[in-house]
Amino acid sequence: MPCDTICLMSKKIRTPSPTARSVILGGKELTAAQCAAQQAVRRARTQGAQILLAILGGGLALLFLFSFWVSRNASGSAGLTFFLLLAALLFALLYFANNFWQWRLLLDLHCPHCEAPLVDRIHWTRRPGYHCPHCGQEALATARQLGEG
Ligand SMILES: [Zn+2]
Repeated sequence: MPCDTICLMSKKIRTPSPTARSVILGGKELTAAQCAAQQAVRRARTQGAQILLAILGGGLALLFLFSFWVSRNASGSAGLTFFLLLAALLFALLYFANNFWQWRLLLDLHCPHCEAPLVDRIHWTRRPGYHCPHCGQEALATARQLGEG
């Protein structure tokens, strides 16, 4: 029967496989909407990390070329100094940009336990943890818990 096959197929498509397994944080099961929100954040985190890594690679290559040019036209030690200084600056910038991005992504998420927002303000100097800043309970699922690990 072709109709039955189609019905079965559409049923299969409609059932989302990652949210089918329950995600339990601190003894509380996440709703499908909470799961979807956490998965979206995780995807955006991965994307952001890939972009920053690409910038790091491209930036280091450009710095190397620039330092090589300096070492040819000025002196070798000047080229090396330029490279080390600018590379350190690039690392620091990307570190802060990454922290900013990680916190920014969590702005719309709320704790599954106390419903408070997971971010009170953006911290530039550290990455967000997996626990709620208000009640201290586990609030963010890991990739493995979301079935993506
Ligand atoms: Zn909480």
